[in-house]
Amino acid sequence: MDYNKLAELVFPDVSGTVNELEEQFPKRNLNEGAYVTRFAPSPTGYMHIGGLYAAMISSRLAHQTGGVFYLRIEDTDKKREIEGGTDEIIQSLAGYGVAFDEGPFSDGEKGYGPYKQSERREIYRICAKELMKAGHAYPCFCTADELNVIRRQQEELKADIGYYGTYAACREMSYEQIEEKIKAGVPFVVRLKAPETAAGHITYSDPIRGNIEMPENRMDLVLLKSDGIPTYHFAHVVDDHFMRTNLVVRGDEWMASYPLHKQMFDLCGFEQPEYLHISPIMKMDGSAKRKLSKRKDPEAAVGFYLEQGFPPESVMEYLLTIANSNYEEWHMENPDKPGSDFVLSLNKMPVSGALFDMVKLTDVSREIISEFTVEECERQILEWSEKYEPDLYQFACKNSAQFQETIGLWKMSGKKVRKDVSKWSELMVMFDYLYMPQEKFEKTAVYELDEKYTKEQLEEAVLAYKKDLFLNTDNWFEQMKTLGEPMGYCPNMKEYKKNPQSYKGSISDLCSIIRVAVTGHKNSPDLYTIMNVLGEETVQKRLDHFLARI
Ligand code: GLU
Repeated sequence: MDYNKLAELVFPDVSGTVNELEEQFPKRNLNEGAYVTRFAPSPTGYMHIGGLYAAMISSRLAHQTGGVFYLRIEDTDKKREIEGGTDEIIQSLAGYGVAFDEGPFSDGEKGYGPYKQSERREIYRICAKELMKAGHAYPCFCTADELNVIRRQQEELKADIGYYGTYAACREMSYEQIEEKIKAGVPFVVRLKAPETAAGHITYSDPIRGNIEMPENRMDLVLLKSDGIPTYHFAHVVDDHFMRTNLVVRGDEWMASYPLHKQMFDLCGFEQPEYLHISPIMKMDGSAKRKLSKRKDPEAAVGFYLEQGFPPESVMEYLLTIANSNYEEWHMENPDKPGSDFVLSLNKMPVSGALFDMVKLTDVSREIISEFTVEECERQILEWSEKYEPDLYQFACKNSAQFQETIGLWKMSGKKVRKDVSKWSELMVMFDYLYMPQEKFEKTAVYELDEKYTKEQLEEAVLAYKKDLFLNTDNWFEQMKTLGEPMGYCPNMKEYKKNPQSYKGSISDLCSIIRVAVTGHKNSPDLYTIMNVLGEETVQKRLDHFLARI
């Protein structure tokens, strides 16, 4: 067979050459050891937490070595694509601080683009034509029915399933047969012609798993579908070569395809990149471990964490603890250094799927929020609440100084840093008494009352306090003591402990009653500050409502 002639017959309109592509996308001029990595999602409008994990690892490995991290959009499946999907990916990653050096940006592409596969059709066709010229590819006209017949035969014979060897009916077609079909407009795909010698083993090696023996590829897999669109496999080889990726970070579901990919790189005459096949994020389901599933687990979606109001810093830090188990130790030894200073090690990645642990994420997040400044909390809460919690947003917008004061209340207790809040959606639950409008508070308030107080006692205390709330004073507690003493609340705790039976209660009981009446909660940050934030009118309404409810 004259393969040149065949290639011209199949690709009459393709005039470019691989050599021209090599010149157009030259090797990158980078320092030794610098990684060129990429994130290669499909724009389906859904971002899996595993995708963010892979993007974080890729971007860090590139940037910590002085390399390049780029975004490639794998939009060859038009049925699954949604409008605006690419912008959503870019924005969502930017929200997590993952930045690309190159990609399909709205202000124009630079570097090794186009970065959208749908715009790279010609490049794939040039490479497929060249493979055909070298006798490594051929057109296949088999219909779905014909492929089914082959499959059934193989099932009966208990042979390997697939298009290969003597089962590969179109492999041996003559030029004339092919010409006739093409002239008649019969649709065809372009297949790889796996070398007949491919019966041995190859060694796959990566920094996590070491060396693994795998059988060589024997299958004549599809390179270009009948509409000229490449399969994932062919696009991977062509794109990662011409975008000059030297480290492919991808999910370990692709590891089984490594022999095919190696073969394709070899047949194309391209240098193969290194690989890092990362293990997926798992979940316990009963007693079994399984992958986080888009269908079953809300926490599989990156959007879940945004909605819940986990700061992006928390999610990223948590993912870092999964990626490298020595991260936490490093963080403890270097408490003042930002997480971005940590150097990710390839060989410390987990070999098997790490379990996603919500409790751990919550702990990490409490720590992160406690380290934020009040201003940073304010900024993030404003951004989050505008979308997800209008009442909180209204409160935050009304008066910045006052809002900051409330943040200070739950962040600090005296000089001690509190670590109560792990995500912004908790604020409305934990501090409803601060952020909820009065009418809503009245509808939802539950009073955490100690049963030891009688109804009469509660009424007496609240009615007495209502006369003067002692707001705007610098000795609220002293005034409370003076108020409580004639009612039988001992102002001195030591004295009370000696003779509890001589009193109705202690000053702490009186304050506790007022605290529950105003906030509904038994525990809260400094009550006096809370009341000043709420203002006299609201506090009076709270007390009235409490009296009406008990
Ligand atoms: N588009 C592929 C996926 O989402 C990319 C795999 C890769 O990174 O090569 O699975």
